[in-house]
Amino acid sequence: MWASTHNQTLYEKMSSLVDALYDCQKKIGTGYLSAFPPEFFDRFEAIQSVWAPYYTIHKIMAGLLDQYVLAGNVKALQMVVGMTDYFGNRVKNVILKYSIERHWTSLNEETGGMNDVLYRLYSITNDPKHMVLAHLFDKPCFLGLLAVQADSLSGFHSNTHIPVVIGAQMRYEITGDPLYKEIGAFFMDIVNSSHSYATGGTSVSEFWSDPKRLAETLSTENEESCTTYNMLKVSRNLFRWTKEMAYADYYERALMNGVLSIQRGREPGVMIYMLPQGPGQSKARSYHGWGTKFDSFWCCYGTGIESFSKLGDSIYFEEKGTAPSLYIIQYISSSFNWRSAGVALSQKIKFVSSFDPYLQISIRILSNQSTSQSSTLNLRMPSWTSLDGANVTLNDQNLPLPYPGNFLCVARNWTSNETLTLVLPLKLRTEPIKGQ
Ligand SMILES: [Zn+2]
Repeated sequence: MWASTHNQTLYEKMSSLVDALYDCQKKIGTGYLSAFPPEFFDRFEAIQSVWAPYYTIHKIMAGLLDQYVLAGNVKALQMVVGMTDYFGNRVKNVILKYSIERHWTSLNEETGGMNDVLYRLYSITNDPKHMVLAHLFDKPCFLGLLAVQADSLSGFHSNTHIPVVIGAQMRYEITGDPLYKEIGAFFMDIVNSSHSYATGGTSVSEFWSDPKRLAETLSTENEESCTTYNMLKVSRNLFRWTKEMAYADYYERALMNGVLSIQRGREPGVMIYMLPQGPGQSKARSYHGWGTKFDSFWCCYGTGIESFSKLGDSIYFEEKGTAPSLYIIQYISSSFNWRSAGVALSQKIKFVSSFDPYLQISIRILSNQSTSQSSTLNLRMPSWTSLDGANVTLNDQNLPLPYPGNFLCVARNWTSNETLTLVLPLKLRTEPIKGQ
């Protein structure tokens, strides 16, 4: 949120939080940093019951790394490196004293996300130790089945394994190994074709169940909200690499249904764990139900509050190349300073009620310099709309439209005060649930 607002109060809060954690880590003196004691990892490594300590460690490391990457906090980077050395030694000890099998077995607890944060760290430090540790958290028994394209997600804990795939995607970005790109695409494909509700959400009681048997799973315990948060990351990466509309459509569907719906009305801090999908079920009367403003902090509280702080994410994507080119994949009121084209965009959406037949978008382009180069705006024509009644104008002039599911590309030397207006029909439709 600070990266998009540069709000001074936020900056002071996040910096003082890093300072306080730095003091804690220094006092512990080993590189370890957590509110629970390191003995939890003795139990974890002995395959004894201990819940999910690496889940929290990943969140602390990812947050600190963001402090460095987004806000330039060098102290935070040193802290992540200290934590990585500590856990690297622990993993090495397990392998040397016991066996690699023991390490792999320990990964059956919630360790997803560790590979992702370690690959991200390696991309900054280029320290081979960080790459080795990232590989050791790649969980071959899961990535292996995706590599041979088996639709065998049933029985796996969803929110542990989606982050393992995000880590694999990061492995592709760093090593260029196409296998890890394919793993992400195949995973997205089977989650969508076999394990997703019409909302775009997935999981029942935190797990995946039998493929294409979703009708039998409708209850209050569907769609752990963390899983949607993580699937957005998978689809975002796939869109960045392929520019395929299916991933942009997915992003919107999951964001609208599975993120905006997890906060109760306009009450920040009142979040929900699961999204009930069963007929007649209610968010207010479910096993997990709504949390409280200050006294709840389960996993989905972390990801939920983070989700609401990054609603401006993944609206605009810039394409690298000689001529500026921008993809607008989400229609959300926002502004964007498109530096490479020398223009500022202001996007406004007319509020939609359930009886409105159209989504109406207006994009104003402001340029404070005369540019001689042509820049391309690629506007998403969502797959859910129809050409029947659709209309897009540039300064009151109608533009020819592509079929829904494609981008409308407008290349132009933009001058100041131009306006694009999109009127997209909203159609009611049904989607059958997979099941018997
Ligand atoms: Zn969760």
